[in-house]
Amino acid sequence: MSCIIGITCTWKEAENRNYLSHDYVRSIQDAGGVPLLIPVLDPRQAAAVYEACDGLVLSGGHDVDPILFGEEPLRGLGEVTPARDNLEIALSHLALKGTKPLLAICRGIQVLNIAAGGSVYQDIKGVSDQLHDVSAPRWYPVHQVEIEQNSKLARILQNTSIRVNSYHHQSVKNVGEGLVAVGWSKDGMIEALENIDGERAILGVQWHPEGLSDRDDNSSRLFKNLVEEALRRKG
Ligand code: MN
Repeated sequence: MSCIIGITCTWKEAENRNYLSHDYVRSIQDAGGVPLLIPVLDPRQAAAVYEACDGLVLSGGHDVDPILFGEEPLRGLGEVTPARDNLEIALSHLALKGTKPLLAICRGIQVLNIAAGGSVYQDIKGVSDQLHDVSAPRWYPVHQVEIEQNSKLARILQNTSIRVNSYHHQSVKNVGEGLVAVGWSKDGMIEALENIDGERAILGVQWHPEGLSDRDDNSSRLFKNLVEEALRRKG
């Protein structure tokens, strides 16, 4: 049996172009799933896309629009992509209500958290001295993440202390309803979220496991789990 894992794309409106790093595609394929790219589209079509997929990945990308969590833009905010926000918020709502597995990566964890009613630091430079936007190769883990022992994530990784890559300057602030923080960097920033309801398979990580998955078990396990959960619910 095969399962289709939809992956949202980055939307570069000025260039009229959707794009996605091939690492996401490879990671899903290596885990045994069939990757399917989701372009930016009318959020009213999100339900049809959700229906067509067996699982979802929200990929990394630009900053989330602070209006989505009731804030005006603050200094330090980067480029926002409202059309992409609208689609991914709609997909997140479907995933939070539905039963299909979701892996939300980097920007994705922030979108997921906002869809659940949470908020995001628009720029963590004023909050933490630790550098989370490190110039290093995608495959190189630059900082530690401690993982809650009694979490789904710890079970999936078979680990409670891992090293990850880091390419973000925004971070989860207040955690949304139905979600719980299960991973933190040394400076106390939230690096992982999961759903409280044990029936659902919703997971968000602030790092980029797709950049590490060809050489790091902790990363490939996230994609394997996504595909396994998708197949289990399908079959
Ligand atoms: Mn980080």
